[in-house]
Amino acid sequence: MKTYSMIIGGKAVDAGKTFAVVNPASGEPFAHVQDAGPEQVDAAVAAARAAFPAWSALPDAERKARLHALGGALEANMSELMELVTRESGKPLQGLNNVGAGMELGGAIAWTHVTADIDLEPEVIQDNEQARVEVHRKPLGVVASITPWNWPLMIAIWHVIPALRAGNTVVLKPSEYTPVATSRFVELANDILPPGVLNVVTGGGAAGAALTGHPDVDKIVFTGSTRTGKRIMENAAATLKRLTLELGGNDAGIVLPDVDVKTVAPKLFGVAFHNNGQTCACLKRLYVHESQYDDMCAELARLAREVKVGDGLEPGTELGPVQNRAQLDIVRELAEDAREHGGKVLAGGKVREGKGYFFEPAIVAGLTNGARLVDEEQFGPILPVIKYTDVDEAVRLANDNPNGLGGSVWSSDPARAVDIGKRLECGSVWINEHGAVQPDAPFGGVKQSGIGVEFGKHGLAEFTTIQTVKIMKS
Ligand code: NDP
Repeated sequence: MKTYSMIIGGKAVDAGKTFAVVNPASGEPFAHVQDAGPEQVDAAVAAARAAFPAWSALPDAERKARLHALGGALEANMSELMELVTRESGKPLQGLNNVGAGMELGGAIAWTHVTADIDLEPEVIQDNEQARVEVHRKPLGVVASITPWNWPLMIAIWHVIPALRAGNTVVLKPSEYTPVATSRFVELANDILPPGVLNVVTGGGAAGAALTGHPDVDKIVFTGSTRTGKRIMENAAATLKRLTLELGGNDAGIVLPDVDVKTVAPKLFGVAFHNNGQTCACLKRLYVHESQYDDMCAELARLAREVKVGDGLEPGTELGPVQNRAQLDIVRELAEDAREHGGKVLAGGKVREGKGYFFEPAIVAGLTNGARLVDEEQFGPILPVIKYTDVDEAVRLANDNPNGLGGSVWSSDPARAVDIGKRLECGSVWINEHGAVQPDAPFGGVKQSGIGVEFGKHGLAEFTTIQTVKIMKS
């Protein structure tokens, strides 16, 4: 069984103690990583700080070239990294609708190249006989990136590449559940980047807390739960660190009664269940008009019964296990609560006997807002389908939640769907789609789903600070 080192200042570093990383398909360890203490966190931040002046002073074209080389390294090592992602996260190599480790690597590569090519040109606010006023973007310094377990490598790329593109240096702390592919990526990246530009420390929440409270960190980019996001914000307050927080979602989808149920149901099933529902912007609450409710529930239940659940390394597997035991317990508890409060479980809804953290994909009818499965983010393979009678009621129910990451409207009349979509309180709205992010369009939450955006020019700007330059002419 392989033991992975941390990479600090371009060197492999061990902490003197390690912990096991479990494959959720078997419940058995498959690798070990270092368990960082405060000394390693300090060393990583110091290495990033030392590397910052030279990295931020590099000509733009050179930084871009190094980032494209990182994209090349991801591509050259794709099959190894895919297998590591599947072993640690449980997500299938291909998966439902091809949303699996292959897509995670494909996305990581695409995001790297697209972000490398984004420029933030200086803006000229005024240029007349009195003065010229320019707005410049400068890097912030040391960025701490804290990543979750659902899309471990792709989310690391989402954090690291724009931070580096803007001229910052980075200390990355992956989730203790899924640190392996990220550690391997940082090892590969250190053949391309100068020492200290990208460092990785592995460990539990304590290492994350030491990093996010570190006085020499300038910015934190975090993807994970709202609860931990709030803790990080408190921790960052002492030194007023900049924050990008991409937190939980409880995305609603509203289906208008003009759709064809048989055509739309497989699409809805895909956007709710890919990666076992463990995606921040999965569809997590589905509102269906009373005229189509029974047919839609029946169709979704059929799909849930037919989907192939198993070990992600087996060819043909569409859904793997839930990523960890604690998350499996949350999903099981929500299913039990739904049953106790009048929910009808139309398919699945049980933990599978035997090894691994498997849950039978579930469709639950008969609930509405106020039930835990509707109000709370399930982050697992169980979807509540909620009946509505008029569209105003559906919009009100969709907005009746503290989260506001994404939302969708499904209709054969896109113009009407857009009008309804604009009334949803969320950072992204998709029409006849859900969760379809892309590297050049901003993505982020409103309400308690986060602060700031990622991707594209808007996301890149969050890794910079503004300097206004005023040149007097008279
Ligand atoms: P967390 O938010 O606790 O973990 C996310 C990351 O934060 C991990 O790297 C974790 O490290 C780290 N972390 C934990 N505590 C601290 C701290 N005090 N300071 C700094 N970093 C810290 O997610 P969970 O794993 O507990 O998942 C719980 C819920 O979060 C899920 O049920 C789901 O609702 C939501 N979630 C949302 C995600 C999204 O994409 N928006 C992704 C994952 C989860 P470590 O793992 O080592 O403790």
